[in-house]
Amino acid sequence: MRFKKPKPLPGKKPTAIRLPFAAEKPAEGTTVLLAEMPGPVIRGQEKHAPDICCGKCGHVLILGMSRKRISDIVIRCFACQSYNYLGDPSPN
Ligand SMILES: [Zn+2]
Repeated sequence: MRFKKPKPLPGKKPTAIRLPFAAEKPAEGTTVLLAEMPGPVIRGQEKHAPDICCGKCGHVLILGMSRKRISDIVIRCFACQSYNYLGDPSPN
Protein backbone atom coordinates (compact mmCIF):
# COMPACT_ATOMS: atom_id res chain seq x y z
CA MET A 1 0.00 0.00 0.00
CA ARG A 2 1.30 3.42 -0.92
CA PHE A 3 0.58 6.64 0.80
CA LYS A 4 0.22 9.86 -1.07
CA LYS A 5 1.82 12.90 0.36
CA PRO A 6 -0.94 15.14 1.67
CA LYS A 7 -1.38 18.26 -0.40
CA PRO A 8 -1.07 21.45 1.57
CA LEU A 9 -4.51 22.89 2.12
CA PRO A 10 -5.22 26.22 0.58
CA GLY A 11 -5.87 28.62 3.39
CA LYS A 12 -5.05 28.13 7.01
CA LYS A 13 -4.16 25.18 9.14
CA PRO A 14 -6.72 24.05 11.67
CA THR A 15 -6.10 25.75 14.94
CA ALA A 16 -4.51 23.81 17.71
CA ILE A 17 -6.53 23.43 20.88
CA ARG A 18 -4.94 23.85 24.26
CA LEU A 19 -6.56 22.00 27.10
CA PRO A 20 -7.31 23.18 30.61
CA PHE A 21 -4.70 21.68 32.87
CA ALA A 22 -3.76 21.22 36.49
CA ALA A 23 -0.57 20.31 38.30
CA GLU A 24 -2.25 18.00 40.81
CA LYS A 25 -3.54 14.50 40.29
CA PRO A 26 -7.22 14.33 39.37
CA ALA A 27 -9.83 12.90 41.73
CA GLU A 28 -10.00 9.17 42.24
CA GLY A 29 -12.04 7.35 39.64
CA THR A 30 -10.88 9.59 36.80
CA THR A 31 -9.31 7.84 33.83
CA VAL A 32 -5.77 9.11 33.42
CA LEU A 33 -3.62 8.40 30.40
CA LEU A 34 0.06 8.74 31.12
CA ALA A 35 2.06 9.87 28.14
CA GLU A 36 5.22 7.82 28.26
CA MET A 37 6.67 8.76 24.92
CA PRO A 38 7.19 12.13 23.27
CA GLY A 39 4.64 11.37 20.53
CA PRO A 40 0.89 11.92 20.75
CA VAL A 41 -0.99 9.67 23.16
CA ILE A 42 -3.95 9.25 20.81
CA ARG A 43 -3.84 9.19 17.04
CA GLY A 44 -7.02 9.17 15.02
CA GLN A 45 -7.95 9.28 11.38
CA GLU A 46 -9.67 12.64 11.18
CA LYS A 47 -7.61 14.67 8.80
CA HIS A 48 -9.16 17.98 9.67
CA ALA A 49 -9.24 17.69 13.41
CA PRO A 50 -7.07 20.27 15.10
CA ASP A 51 -4.09 19.14 17.15
CA ILE A 52 -4.92 18.93 20.82
CA CYS A 53 -2.09 20.23 22.92
CA CYS A 54 -1.02 20.46 26.51
CA GLY A 55 -2.45 23.63 28.01
CA LYS A 56 0.74 24.39 29.84
CA CYS A 57 3.56 23.71 27.42
CA GLY A 58 1.90 23.15 24.04
CA HIS A 59 3.14 19.59 23.61
CA VAL A 60 0.88 17.69 21.17
CA LEU A 61 -1.21 15.09 23.01
CA ILE A 62 -3.82 14.06 20.46
CA LEU A 63 -3.67 14.07 16.70
CA GLY A 64 -6.41 13.43 14.20
CA MET A 65 -9.32 13.14 16.58
CA SER A 66 -11.79 15.80 17.49
CA ARG A 67 -12.11 16.61 21.12
CA LYS A 68 -15.83 15.93 21.31
CA ARG A 69 -15.23 12.30 20.44
CA ILE A 70 -13.09 11.81 23.50
CA SER A 71 -14.95 11.74 26.77
CA ASP A 72 -13.90 12.47 30.29
CA ILE A 73 -10.29 11.54 30.52
CA VAL A 74 -7.19 13.22 31.77
CA ILE A 75 -3.89 13.04 29.94
CA ARG A 76 -0.62 13.59 31.71
CA CYS A 77 1.75 15.46 29.49
CA PHE A 78 5.04 13.79 28.70
CA ALA A 79 6.93 17.04 28.56
CA CYS A 80 5.77 18.93 31.63
CA GLN A 81 3.81 16.33 33.67
CA SER A 82 0.69 18.49 33.83
CA TYR A 83 -2.71 16.85 33.89
CA ASN A 84 -4.77 17.92 30.89
CA TYR A 85 -8.54 17.70 31.13
CA LEU A 86 -10.72 16.60 28.26
CA GLY A 87 -14.46 16.66 28.48
CA ASP A 88 -16.13 19.67 29.97
CA PRO A 89 -13.67 22.26 31.06
CA SER A 90 -14.18 23.27 34.65
CA PRO A 91 -15.92 26.62 35.10
CA ASN A 92 -12.97 28.35 36.73
ZN1 LIG B 1 2.92 19.87 28.87
